[in-house]
Amino acid sequence: MNPLYESMMTSVFERMSLAATARGAINLGQGFPDFGWPPEILEAAAAAVLGGSNQYAPSRGLPVLRAAVADHYRRHFAQALTPDHVCVTSGATEALAAAILATISPGDEAIIMTPAYDAYVPLIRRAGGVVRELALKPPEWRISRAAIQAAVSPRTRVILLNNPHNPTGRLFDRVELEAVAAVAATHNLIVISDEVWEHILLDGQAFTPFATLPGMAERTIKCGSAGKIFSLTGWKIGWLVAPPALVDIAARAHQFLTFASAPNLQVAVAQGLKDGDAWLAPMRLRFARARDRMRAGLEAAGYAVLPSAATYFHCVDLAASGIALDDEAFAVVAVEQAGVAVIPLSPFSELDPPLHLVRLCFAKQDATIDAGVAALSCARGFALAGSR
Ligand code: PMP
Ligand code: GLN
Repeated sequence: MNPLYESMMTSVFERMSLAATARGAINLGQGFPDFGWPPEILEAAAAAVLGGSNQYAPSRGLPVLRAAVADHYRRHFAQALTPDHVCVTSGATEALAAAILATISPGDEAIIMTPAYDAYVPLIRRAGGVVRELALKPPEWRISRAAIQAAVSPRTRVILLNNPHNPTGRLFDRVELEAVAAVAATHNLIVISDEVWEHILLDGQAFTPFATLPGMAERTIKCGSAGKIFSLTGWKIGWLVAPPALVDIAARAHQFLTFASAPNLQVAVAQGLKDGDAWLAPMRLRFARARDRMRAGLEAAGYAVLPSAATYFHCVDLAASGIALDDEAFAVVAVEQAGVAVIPLSPFSELDPPLHLVRLCFAKQDATIDAGVAALSCARGFALAGSR
């Protein structure tokens, strides 16, 4: 057996969702919305299934979707892209895997910013790479140029950037992105930019794709996901976007991960990307309202909630909420005693993880939010009683 997997825990998302199902708990853990997907895109998928698009797609994706992805980024961010810049993958998870396998050879180092999405570390290690953690610190979670610079060694090949950032909900600003760009340029690094949350912006901000920074297009491999853009996380249609020479290599890795993704869903996503620009603003508004509703409820229940500008998530500071339990212990109390699943943050860092933060998904209908807040209010009561 491979010791990498023998010593690994089950993903925190799976652990908490299984616990929620087993207990019949409200699931504010794993990030998925329970409302808000455009019905038109479901109809397009149903029509594509019934209309016969059910055999292998070309490995790099249906031409119609590769063109739609390139057009989408041309329209939204003025990027000069063609279908040759795009490879369709089975979710951003597979895009990340292909990008990492394509760029990291045994012994190469990759810098990640913790708390980091849980797929990065095992994928880098499976490629034979060495992980260098750069710890962002709450509550600001800022990237500093000095810190990235200090994480670079002669073996560094890749910086894995995630913007907007899961689990913190931060949208990194121009100064921070320029700091990453400067270090990448100085040391000739590839930047794998996980931008799955690019459209889930909650306060009217603008998103800057990393590849649009001066000199960065040639060294950036972007990972995107239709699951986030259309609130359809189970569809697992994602993509890589990079200069053709880089995409060619990542597409070779993708050939032997999944080869190709569901053609009917690709047809529907292509249509969504073509017709769906008008869905984005109302979607952001609904998620921002949901965030505000959950935040107000949590604060009324005595919780200290960290700010969130993007993604489906905000974090609660247990210590500042008067709770002495650590994040994993609180998550157990919440799901087992109070009937609400949350995500502890410590699994997202190996070195010096924060132990006082849990992540909540607010992309829920009002009724789910209200029931979740009520359950979290009970969880606080249990936690206070238990830690007294
Ligand atoms: N990266 C980040 C930062 C994510 O939050 C997620 C999922 N929420 C993914 C990658 C994976 O995306 P997908 O579901 O499309 O595989
Ligand atoms: N990205 C989702 C989250 O952050 C979970 C994806 C998964 O379950 N692998 O909650």
